[in-house]
Amino acid sequence: MPYRERTLIKGGMVLTMDPSIGDLPIGDVLVEDGLIVKIAPEIDVEDARTIDASSRIVIPGFVDTHRHIWQAAMRNLCQDWTLASYFTGVHAGLSRYFLPEDIYTANLLGSLEALSSGVTTLLDWSHGVNTAEHSDGAIMGLKESGARAVFAHGGGADHYQVPSVVPHPEDARRIREQYFSSESGDDLVTMALALRGPQFARKDITVNDFAFARELGLRITVHVGDGEWGKDRPVAWMCDAGLLGPDITYVHCNTIADDEMRMVADSGGTASVAADVEMMMGHGWPATGRLLDAGIRPSLSIDICSSNGGHMFGAMRSTIGTQRALDHANAQADGREVERLRVTCKDMMSFATLEGARALGMDHKIGSLTPGKAADLVLVRTDDLGMVPLIHPYGALVYNAHPGLVDTVMVGGRIVKEDGKMVGLDFDRLRHRAEDNCESLFARAQAEPALADACVGGGWTPKPYVPA
Ligand SMILES: [Zn+2]
Repeated sequence: MPYRERTLIKGGMVLTMDPSIGDLPIGDVLVEDGLIVKIAPEIDVEDARTIDASSRIVIPGFVDTHRHIWQAAMRNLCQDWTLASYFTGVHAGLSRYFLPEDIYTANLLGSLEALSSGVTTLLDWSHGVNTAEHSDGAIMGLKESGARAVFAHGGGADHYQVPSVVPHPEDARRIREQYFSSESGDDLVTMALALRGPQFARKDITVNDFAFARELGLRITVHVGDGEWGKDRPVAWMCDAGLLGPDITYVHCNTIADDEMRMVADSGGTASVAADVEMMMGHGWPATGRLLDAGIRPSLSIDICSSNGGHMFGAMRSTIGTQRALDHANAQADGREVERLRVTCKDMMSFATLEGARALGMDHKIGSLTPGKAADLVLVRTDDLGMVPLIHPYGALVYNAHPGLVDTVMVGGRIVKEDGKMVGLDFDRLRHRAEDNCESLFARAQAEPALADACVGGGWTPKPYVPA
């Protein structure tokens, strides 16, 4: 165990997200050897380092179940693009020009950004790894960041010329053996497979890909139901092919049918809603309410950090906002008014923490402040103009909080952010590295006639992708 000292987080408002413990208006959290060992209104221990949590809300670290971290290398690229333009510009475009060091830098930058905003665990949906060296770079960036992460190996540009006839890269087997064969339960970085599924790969390829993941003993994450491409009953087909299972997280789900959602629920699958990107790119209405109707409490995700910011305060706000608007619109279409909002701010906090942990198969270990779980926790400042008076803490977290209020972040008992500052981060060095990599990436891409119009500045909108 690397952390011998005890840490006492003292006098905060503690929202555990553990229904058996509930919330403490004022409470202490004791951390020992990387684990939460006690939560109580008052804990007296000697020899513990004490963190003053007065004017702070103490919450479990946020869990993001689907983030293409490699796209932090192209941050602020595609805020004005549709999904089809994104496919041309990114997967058929810039992705092919990434070097392994670009992926490394992006994963380090993107994971540190996540940590700084209170996301302590994130699933890296890594589909920009064109070679073994790209995957090595991605894993190195994740490990160096100090975040808890799932490296979900997803292949690279060659696997996203859709519909793909190329199998999932065999290199996943090497990665599994080289980096993740001795997962002891203490490792911060673990592995999953990010599969293309029936929307993006030919069906015989999909059957083999799913068998490959299960042979390697890895959980699966797959995009379904995004936009027009999702209306072809991908989940029903997977069900008929015998592919469904509790080891799968279904990302988006906007345009899958209600009976397909029930198939996901019946098989014990989990879901990930990425409302910002879904609304921007035309995936369809975020599926939160329909998932709930089918008995699935979704997790939340950021998706492409080449467009939107990587913090869960924004994800919670856009997810709750769209669902409430839909509920009001549906009621009004029926000639009635909503009497009580069915999705609450506390629901959002549970989607962003405990349900995220569940979707990663890690709810025994993270997702709530529970004795015995890892000490992944966040202190959010409440001594701020936008946070007082603090009448409704869940409401404040969802509608008023932002990364600037994230004061302290702990992962597995190790403090990665303290007093609002990332510990040990040489920001200028990382920034210059990321900016230099981005400039070189565009220069390499622009040399290709089809990408001659690729440029920075916001003026580039790629022609919509047309599947072969
Ligand atoms: Zn995605």
